[in-house]
Amino acid sequence: MMSVTPIPALSDNYIWLLRQDTSPNVCVVDPGEAAPVIELLEREGLTLTTILITHHHHDHTGGIEELQKRYSPHVIGPKDSTIEGLDEVVGHGDEIRVMGRMFEVIATPGHTLDHVSYFAAGIPALLFCGDTLFCAGCGRLFEGEPAQMHASLQTLASLPEDTLVFGGHEYTKANLTFARAADPDNKAIPNALEECEKARAMDRPTLPSTIGRELAINPYLRVDTDSVRRAAGEQGPNGDDLATFTTLREWKNRF
Ligand code: ZN
Ligand code: FE
Repeated sequence: MMSVTPIPALSDNYIWLLRQDTSPNVCVVDPGEAAPVIELLEREGLTLTTILITHHHHDHTGGIEELQKRYSPHVIGPKDSTIEGLDEVVGHGDEIRVMGRMFEVIATPGHTLDHVSYFAAGIPALLFCGDTLFCAGCGRLFEGEPAQMHASLQTLASLPEDTLVFGGHEYTKANLTFARAADPDNKAIPNALEECEKARAMDRPTLPSTIGRELAINPYLRVDTDSVRRAAGEQGPNGDDLATFTTLREWKNRF
């Protein structure tokens, strides 16, 4: 059975550690720094055999070089990227075997143009989506167009509802605070915010989420609802789903 553990890193990043309970060989996703990974591997007597990278930002790649020197893992990341030290580049539709599970590569441009997500079907289904889909939010548009991010999110939203969603940051509280304004009729959001605050007060991660949960609370996946469209309409254009999405994303930047 595969387990996935968060390694908190930098100020609010999660590096996800994948392991099979019988094997000392593990994989990490998006090691933004090496020290907390090394600390955990040493403490538990594990060795790093694979690194998965979602996109080129330093808070997701900064630990690669040091981890490579120490463990010589196989480093997999997106093609058409500036990331240094990749052993294998992947693109949309590719399949890779990691820790005994098959992962499908899904192109998810928007936050950056090189951004990919990694999806493993099965029980449980797993999605590593970097800075594309967060709990109750989505990444900022640094390189892509709103239409690209909207399409990327639609693709992820169509995955099975019980898929566990492992995003790259602990942004849930700020996202839910925005969601309360962006989706005012949604009764699930105040409850989610309360749960989130309890978890954070005990220093527990609010991730993983699930696709089903995101469909219920993430305003960027709910741009077709009256509640979100109306709230967006008070901030900017809301003529169709993409216009509503674009207005929401811009509104969040100044929220
Ligand atoms: Zn990023
Ligand atoms: Fe990031």
